[in-house]
Amino acid sequence: MTEQIRKYMVQNARVFCITLSDAVKRSAELNHLTADDTDRLGRLQVFTCCIAALQKVDKASVIARLSLPTIGQYSATADRDGSVRGLKEDSSVGMEATLEVTLQLPLRGNYTGVVTGSCFEDLVTGYFSRSLQIASACKVLSCPEGYVCILVEKLPGEDCDLEQICNDACAALPFGSVPKDFVFLEESALRFGCTCSRAALLRIVSALPPEDRQDLSENGKIVTHCNSCGKKYTFEV
Ligand SMILES: [Zn+2]
Repeated sequence: MTEQIRKYMVQNARVFCITLSDAVKRSAELNHLTADDTDRLGRLQVFTCCIAALQKVDKASVIARLSLPTIGQYSATADRDGSVRGLKEDSSVGMEATLEVTLQLPLRGNYTGVVTGSCFEDLVTGYFSRSLQIASACKVLSCPEGYVCILVEKLPGEDCDLEQICNDACAALPFGSVPKDFVFLEESALRFGCTCSRAALLRIVSALPPEDRQDLSENGKIVTHCNSCGKKYTFEV
């Protein structure tokens, strides 16, 4: 499955079709995830790419954190330029399923929206209606070829059947066909990518007081990981 965002117009709505495959595999490998964890992270990553695609400023980033009681917490980051990454976090989870989405907008600051719900689908729907307050229909699918997010966003003006458009889009777009009334607008590529570097983490480790460095080290080494993609870095003390 090609990793990309494709946009279409149909009636009075804009349709986004986001597909991911290798980026999720790469995250799963870096973080040694089980198949179930990979599936949850894949859905979160493709949803996060969708929110990033809605941002109008070039250097915007979106961080989404999904908390599922008794299962775990996952985080995904997507940049407006098409880079995406994610990991399963170690932190403990609360009693309620939660989706927290932070928009990092250059010059304007951060905006965080939090919704609670019963399952991932419910959280996604709740985020669009309660947090972003846009009239929309959204579906996140996982299939053997990869992960798909379809968003139908209503534009100002005449009403249209968003659920019907969403169902039509889900049945066709991920599989390479386009429903006949859809008008293609544009597409852009997505890929696994993180801004972390060995040099940046080394600066953080070097800035720690010597006693903290000693506490963190084991057999003369400090092992740390990027909290955006999960990549492991090892430093000699
Ligand atoms: Zn990283």
